[in-house]
Amino acid sequence: MDVPAVQLTRETFGNIPPSSVIAFYVIAAASMLVFCWGVWRRWKLWRQGRPVAIREILLGNFARLKPRLGRLLKEGLGQKRVRGRGLASWAHIMMFAGFMMLFLGTTLLEVDHLAGKVSEKLHFHHGWYYVIYEGALDVFGLLFILGISLFLWRRMRRPSSVGHRASDWTALYLFLGIGVTGYFVEGLRIVWDQPEGLALWCSPVGASLAKLFGEMSEPASRSAHLVVWWVHSLMVFGFFAMIPFTRLLHFITGPANLFFSTPSLGQLKPISIEEVEETGVVGVSEIAHLDQQQLLSLDACMECGRCDDACPAFASGKPLSPKAVVQDLKGLMQATANGESVGLHGDTIQAETVWACTSCNACVTACPVRVDPLGLLFDLRRDRAAEGALAGSAANSMRQMQTKGNPWGFPQAERLAWADGLDVPLASDHPNFEILWWVGCAGSFDRRAQKVTRAIAKLLIKAGVNFAVLGPNECCTGDSARRLGDEFLFQELAEKNHSTLKQHGVRKILTQCPHCMNSLTHDYPQFGDQFEVVHHTEFLQQLIDNGKLTAPERNGSVTYHDPCYLARVNGVHQSPRDLLGDGVSEMERRREKTFCCGAGGGRMWMEEEPDQRVSVLRAKEAIETGAETVAVGCPFCLTMMTDGVKSCGSGAVVEDVAENLAKRLGL
Ligand code: SF4
Ligand code: SF4
Repeated sequence: MDVPAVQLTRETFGNIPPSSVIAFYVIAAASMLVFCWGVWRRWKLWRQGRPVAIREILLGNFARLKPRLGRLLKEGLGQKRVRGRGLASWAHIMMFAGFMMLFLGTTLLEVDHLAGKVSEKLHFHHGWYYVIYEGALDVFGLLFILGISLFLWRRMRRPSSVGHRASDWTALYLFLGIGVTGYFVEGLRIVWDQPEGLALWCSPVGASLAKLFGEMSEPASRSAHLVVWWVHSLMVFGFFAMIPFTRLLHFITGPANLFFSTPSLGQLKPISIEEVEETGVVGVSEIAHLDQQQLLSLDACMECGRCDDACPAFASGKPLSPKAVVQDLKGLMQATANGESVGLHGDTIQAETVWACTSCNACVTACPVRVDPLGLLFDLRRDRAAEGALAGSAANSMRQMQTKGNPWGFPQAERLAWADGLDVPLASDHPNFEILWWVGCAGSFDRRAQKVTRAIAKLLIKAGVNFAVLGPNECCTGDSARRLGDEFLFQELAEKNHSTLKQHGVRKILTQCPHCMNSLTHDYPQFGDQFEVVHHTEFLQQLIDNGKLTAPERNGSVTYHDPCYLARVNGVHQSPRDLLGDGVSEMERRREKTFCCGAGGGRMWMEEEPDQRVSVLRAKEAIETGAETVAVGCPFCLTMMTDGVKSCGSGAVVEDVAENLAKRLGL
């Protein structure tokens, strides 16, 4: 390049008369005021909720702050949770990257301008910095426009999961206008301001546009530049002013929610009797019962519809859309602040919606900004359960749990009936066991699941494992009670189990039920218990790895259905596949992205309309693989998938991974 380095710059506000510069700053200030006022109004809405210890979060120890900052960096700046949705993800990433760079570039330009006012020496917008700056902004500007164009194209096809409001179109066209006029401002400036060679180096897009205006005289291009510069600036100010009043609010609330939310996969906040006595509140019956972070999260929702796309209740036609739950509560938050007398239960959220959730956690993991529709539903359920609104078969199962220690209502004395003819040691007779096998209610009482239990027992005995079971001293973990909202029944059962486990000095637990596994892993530690809990598929694989069992080749084709609480919530998805051996025919939705069988969240104990069965949807996916066997790793999935496969008229066999292995070993 033959241009001296000192000329590698451009004047900020070049060609803009002083009166326009003053007007620019006045309008900028007005736009910022509108922005701050809008955010302040939302802030007041969030403050209706139960307080969150913001000071403690921000000023507490760094170890607790670190994961929050990490989420902000990885999931906010790195867009980690946005990825994986094809075109929509790419469009968002391009738009986000473009926006961030243009915002940063404009801020740096202003800093340089103000620094220059203090001293000429403080100018840094020149030389190679200038070349890199201009080049980078040119490229990221293109990305920005491309991202918006993709979003517009997608929106024109009106996907049902995406909201369609006039303000969404306005925001997108405004963005497009800002991007395009930005290039026109640059192109018109280059006509009189820069030698072509330099412009092509620094601003290839702007320089190409400048060729379009090549015939223009300098005065004409200067006049056009001033006009387009104003259009561009007014659009930018309009954009900032509209942020708090449109879906664009997620620019602020999204990162804020990523920072303030607490990951809750598989967990529920405990409630204490003392707390209830003090507040008189169990769960959520009005908007002020949600905490401030939950209210902030309602504003973080940008209605992308990812939660709906992942939701089995929504897919099966039940009256539950996690996105609508979030948006309806957001509407209630505003209405309550306006003094309108709108109720929560019945008015805003219907009872059928509250009970339709299978607590599969798919919405929790799908949301790019960590909104937690499941956490909201759990809180609503707690209120309904406390009000005695849970009726029918589920209420009956809860009663049986309370009085008999299991949801089926079988006598506890029959807990070991499944072990007839097998040498299964009881913890009370065999205190020196290495691992306690938590059989669970389904494994103990459900006829079909008992066969799985027997298969596991034979495998453990063959491998020479030093185990024991609690037999009649085992009681339901209370997982379903907790997830149906009956926190105090759960705590009662947990307390009973806690003293049994303590009495036997249990530290390591083997379980065949992912719901028991989750409860023992995530719920029980909240009450002082800490165990190493292992699912039977992991344990059996360890026995094979240690040479205590072999895994003969499998005959016939098999597909594997990942239970939500095993794969998505607790990350166990490889060991079942390893146990099944090579050539598992995979369903599209698998591992952490599995699709529910319909039994979680206490739905196991509820009647389902025949045309709204989640199990049928999942069974169809399994059947489509063409596999002869559908393997599972959960007693609830076993029941649901068996029903689903039967309803579809398929002859596929549904069996637990352990049964499959035991068969291959001739046990
Ligand atoms: S947890 Fe599962 S069933 Fe419940 S709302 Fe979320 S996606 Fe739907
Ligand atoms: S809750 Fe999350 S996933 Fe659902 S629509 Fe809102 S932002 Fe999207």
